[in-house]
Amino acid sequence: MPSTTVSKRLFAFDFDWTLIEADSDHWVMQRLSGDLFKEQEDLFGKMQWTDLQNMLLGRLFDRGVTKQDIEQVLHEIPFTQEVITALRLMESQGAELCIISDANTFYIETILKMHGIDTLFTKIITNPAHFDESGRLHVSRFHGADKGPHGCALPCQPNLCKGRELQKLIDSQAWDQVVYMGDSTNDFCPSTRLQSKDLILARSKLLLEKAIREQPHLVLADVVYWESPSDILATTQSIFNIESTKPLPSPQVERSGLPSMAIP
Ligand SMILES: [Mg+2]
Repeated sequence: MPSTTVSKRLFAFDFDWTLIEADSDHWVMQRLSGDLFKEQEDLFGKMQWTDLQNMLLGRLFDRGVTKQDIEQVLHEIPFTQEVITALRLMESQGAELCIISDANTFYIETILKMHGIDTLFTKIITNPAHFDESGRLHVSRFHGADKGPHGCALPCQPNLCKGRELQKLIDSQAWDQVVYMGDSTNDFCPSTRLQSKDLILARSKLLLEKAIREQPHLVLADVVYWESPSDILATTQSIFNIESTKPLPSPQVERSGLPSMAIP
């Protein structure tokens, strides 16, 4: 039988403000309790974020908020059809899809299942979450406080070095190309793990773009700066050389200090 060569691609995604159009931690707290959301804002930077979420989830439970209440607000988080179409396209082309996120397993799995796309992903690397027998949701750090520091010199959170987790995925197979997509400061470390054949999809005008522009010498991969979910779909179609059925904006790719150019 003739053999066909299909490029083995790994797509690794941040979740909040990358796959979904919101921050899930903020969304849940804001929708379920205005004053706890205010407290979350006040304690930002004064308490480790996962520990803060766990404390506030306990307070929500004490006020009678149920699993169904949390599921209901998670179902209302905007997740665009363009991104869902792009994810389905990647999977249909034989790519492996993984999420590396500082949200938690319950939020991410609930949202993906609601949109019928949970089976597209082979790995979800994030903070573990579970409901206890009383119905209270607990979240805990992916990299536990009982362990020593993960030792990353880049601005990763103490509970999760996304770069280290991406590196494990990169080392697990001989990929033809790795694509990383994110928006924030903690997406910079994984971006530095990519090679020149790889691609970074950085949300435009946010903290990941700022970090890349401040330390371009640490980034070997080409970077596509995207603004909207339709850019994601257009970029995905370009990666797989698939014609779009309707006119879409053509995202620009930047190569290591060179001017912008079209995606090859
Ligand atoms: Mg994000």
